[in-house]
Amino acid sequence: MTTPIPFIDLQAQRNRLGNRIEQAIGRVLDHGAFIMGPEIKELEDNLSAFCGAAHSLGCSNGTDALVLALMAKGAGPGDAVLCPSFTFAATAEAVALVGASPVFVDILPDTFNMDPANLDSAMEAALAAGLRPKGIIPVDLFGLPADYDGLEAFARQYKLWIIADAAQSFGAAYKGRKVGSMGDMATTSFFPAKPLGCYGDGGAVFTGDEATQRLLHSLRVHGQGTDRYDNIRIGINGRLDTLQAAILLLKLEIFPDEIMARNRVADRYNQALAQVAVVPKVPQGLTSTWAQYTLRFTAGNRDFIAATLKDQAIPTAIYYPRPLHKQSAYHHYPVAGEKLPVTDQMAREVLSLPMHPYLDEAAQDRIIQAVLQAKS
Ligand SMILES: *Cc1c(COP(=O)(O)O)cnc(C)c1O
Repeated sequence: MTTPIPFIDLQAQRNRLGNRIEQAIGRVLDHGAFIMGPEIKELEDNLSAFCGAAHSLGCSNGTDALVLALMAKGAGPGDAVLCPSFTFAATAEAVALVGASPVFVDILPDTFNMDPANLDSAMEAALAAGLRPKGIIPVDLFGLPADYDGLEAFARQYKLWIIADAAQSFGAAYKGRKVGSMGDMATTSFFPAKPLGCYGDGGAVFTGDEATQRLLHSLRVHGQGTDRYDNIRIGINGRLDTLQAAILLLKLEIFPDEIMARNRVADRYNQALAQVAVVPKVPQGLTSTWAQYTLRFTAGNRDFIAATLKDQAIPTAIYYPRPLHKQSAYHHYPVAGEKLPVTDQMAREVLSLPMHPYLDEAAQDRIIQAVLQAKS
């Protein structure tokens, strides 16, 4: 009987942190400030120091982080927001939730990230649909930053804002700039399976602009003004729990070390599998947090390999099997050039292998051997 390999091993991390987690939770239980307790501000300060953003705002989850950022930009009905289709639904969902329209853009096959060369077509599609293009939400898919040089040049030309959806890439860097400090705002998620995850839902918004930070503060708590019963705009209940902040403070301490461990795992996969699959490449000057380690196989091969690994108690995952522009909730929104061929191809070819900082070499070798054998 082969022991199952976990896709993500949160227990190994918990063992490493030992009883410090229980102690941190105990401190919150003792002081009792469950909502906006002192750990929130401490975490926000540490997140800012970590990523170089002037301001960090803890919030309820990565989806609400996007909603808060879009509300701060005043995005609403008639506005178009350019975003990828090859992403988790929350990216486009947040746009639709504030009443604006996502316009789907194709990606590059070597990074899975938005193709700046496709933005012109996206603008045309938006205008043809009678929408006003207002902004871009690039996604740093699988932990790798998008092509910000290309995106920023386009955004400047057309006076668009950028909200970076860094739900998977917090901790990564782009040509000397850290994720969180790029874009007019950046958002992340602390969902347990993300590279920096808490023990429930959580998220954050980052900005370098003080006026934006004040606005986000107000939006996070029902649009409050000078005090809790002064409501000056429509907001949401978008707070992060104190308990989750206390947990994240500890996890942030070991996060740099975990990112290095993820990179070691990815390097080993790349070396062993480059002959049998298209392995993920990190462009010069960029780093990845390896939220996912994602290979490409030809479509028929992909499903055979996934099934073969499953027989050996090795889980795999397909991120994402159905792009958003093909989903019933989103297929009526404009699409750049009316079709996204690279997105559709990637949806047929991608396969993610187990990836976490505590994946030891023996387990990894078992995964590698299983892939090599399935391909032979
Ligand atoms: C996880 C994720 C989100 C949403 O985060 P939640 O905390 O689950 O709401 C948004 N965008 C991307 C790209 C994600 O991977």
